[in-house]
Amino acid sequence: MLGLMQNRPLLISTVIEHAANFHSAAEIVSRTCEGPIHRCSYGDINRRSKQLANALTGLGVKPGDRIASLAWNGYRHMEMYFGVSGMGAILHTINPRLFPEQIEYIANHAEDKFLFFDLTFLPVVEKLAAAMKTVKGFVLMTDRAHMPASTGIPNLQCYEDLIANQSTEYVWPDFDENTASSLCYTSGTTGNPKGVLYSHRSSLLHSMLACSVDGLGLGTNETALLVVPMFHVNAWGMPYAGALCGAKLVMPGPGLDGKSVYELMRDEKVTLALGVPTVWLMLFQYVDANKLEPKQDLSLTRVVIGGSSAPRAMCERFETNFGAFVMHAWGMTEMSPLGTVCNLLPKHKGYNLQQRLDIQAKQGRAVFGVEMRITDDDGKVLPNDGKAFGHLMVRGPWIVASYYRNEGGVILDADGYFDTGDVATIDPDGYMQITDRSKDVIKSGGEWISSIDLENAAMGHPAVAEAAVIGAAHTKWQERPLLIIVKKQGQQLTREDMLQYLEGKIVKWWTPDDVVFVDELPHTATGKLQKMKLREQFKGYRLPTDV
Ligand code: ADP
Repeated sequence: MLGLMQNRPLLISTVIEHAANFHSAAEIVSRTCEGPIHRCSYGDINRRSKQLANALTGLGVKPGDRIASLAWNGYRHMEMYFGVSGMGAILHTINPRLFPEQIEYIANHAEDKFLFFDLTFLPVVEKLAAAMKTVKGFVLMTDRAHMPASTGIPNLQCYEDLIANQSTEYVWPDFDENTASSLCYTSGTTGNPKGVLYSHRSSLLHSMLACSVDGLGLGTNETALLVVPMFHVNAWGMPYAGALCGAKLVMPGPGLDGKSVYELMRDEKVTLALGVPTVWLMLFQYVDANKLEPKQDLSLTRVVIGGSSAPRAMCERFETNFGAFVMHAWGMTEMSPLGTVCNLLPKHKGYNLQQRLDIQAKQGRAVFGVEMRITDDDGKVLPNDGKAFGHLMVRGPWIVASYYRNEGGVILDADGYFDTGDVATIDPDGYMQITDRSKDVIKSGGEWISSIDLENAAMGHPAVAEAAVIGAAHTKWQERPLLIIVKKQGQQLTREDMLQYLEGKIVKWWTPDDVVFVDELPHTATGKLQKMKLREQFKGYRLPTDV
């Protein structure tokens, strides 16, 4: 027997309509490529998204067409989130930090019909326009005054001109909630990037979770700074979640340096900030260099850190120096991205800071909707005892079923679980802790050593700016850990200091066999350490213990 409740589809357009009706005054504040800070409301975003939908209809865009963006976080990009998906087309957010060849590959693979881009990316688009075979037209996301006099880009239009004379009346169409809404490619650290195609349903369920108290707790009273880019897994779903609950959103545009981020936080009274560890390191450097007092200047109460492991020292610093609680979160493009959030339990109430940081260093507990387990190489499910570590497998309504155009073929196991490629432990309270990427785990004499644990331990040293650990070849043990360090400017640190510092902080047999110092470490387009490059760089490195 079926239930007798209304079967209204979960559509992205319903979110912005709701925001316009019930949170119309809540602000979207954007730092623009043109310079000034721009302010508007959800009501404005709804009206202009409708103008955009009318304009796209006029350009012949049909449901299911892919419309690409190469853009920073800002109100025009937000209008695309709702205008493009709302009309039934698919917003394809391209990561501008990818190599030009990758951008070209992605646009052709997605068969994008139009490309919208920010002024910053004019040079890249000029270079690639001819190679983007399916793109019929290009739209520069600016006003008439900022349009370049001449470019090599065919069919270039100005965003503001495009929507200016369009009606603000548009009835969002109703369709199946399983319809595709947006497309995002994984960075492709190995092989070609693969597309993850989100649906209206998956995006909405994910947003509801982000707004739940034990999710990210986004709500009407929050002012959220989206340092995480809108070209990276839909800024962790925040533009939808923000509209859903009416949070004030602050968009940093191209200004991701410490000074710009700090000023926005201060001026807009940001209460919740979301981003990857690298941007917070830049923020700390700015605070140090200018001897600022964030606790007094800012209204920050919570910081969501994900994308890579949040070092313990970073969580501690936010707490003591900023007065902000770090919510460690884990996820991936294939998971929309939210998988786990590290919130505390009633039993942690009496914990002191150091005990609490032990918990916060973990990636957290699965949010409702995400089923999660760890397995060994044979697929046997391992216990949630906080000790056994295995392949982290996930299943749920906002987790990928297959890649766009079936790249990579079947990606789920017999039980419908997706292999995240991460290696993790899960403790009896359900806290998951990533110990490695499966390809980065160091296999020493048949045992596994977590490179991330070692990196976090090394990062605790005050002279260390960044640390990476890779497995270096060893005759007897196959692989042994090699610690690679970037020192903070002007700091002294020797191999011996470091090894001594690690004593007692890690299991003895995990102690790196050598420590080397470099000026910088290679990063991917999303700010993650590029271990593959490092392994290449140190290929043939002879460990002093390998005699
Ligand atoms: P990419 O496109 O680089 O794969 P994703 O954001 O999809 O970008 O990357 C997902 C991966 O990032 C995860 O599988 C995991 O390895 C890593 N990751 C994400 N969040 C965390 C975290 N909090 N701690 C450790 N690793 C993380």
